[in-house]
Amino acid sequence: MSEGNLTGGGALWPGDKLRKNVEAAACRMRRRVVWIEETTAIDGVLIETRRSYEFERIPITPKSKRPLCGARCRDGHECRARCVEGRKRCRLHGGLSTGPKTEAGRLRIAESNRRRAK
Ligand SMILES: [Zn+2]
Repeated sequence: MSEGNLTGGGALWPGDKLRKNVEAAACRMRRRVVWIEETTAIDGVLIETRRSYEFERIPITPKSKRPLCGARCRDGHECRARCVEGRKRCRLHGGLSTGPKTEAGRLRIAESNRRRAK
């Protein structure tokens, strides 16, 4: 997670659980979070601080413009498939997600699978 490239709004929200959740959700949706902080002040006296956020689309590179995967196939030639967005290999050569890692994530998927199986 990148803490450094937040612009505007001034203060970060350290240790804020919501913030982490929102960023995780954005990551899943391939979106970027834009944090907005609005302060209302009358005569220089701070009345309230409102915090909100927006999801911003990350433009995706069209497949034809992504580099080739280039992994070595079993028969020796280089893979000519295009890379998965933001990665160096195609979907067959390690580019795709390998699934949830945390215990919470794994439980969530298990629960989802149980429901869908009914
Ligand atoms: Zn490949």
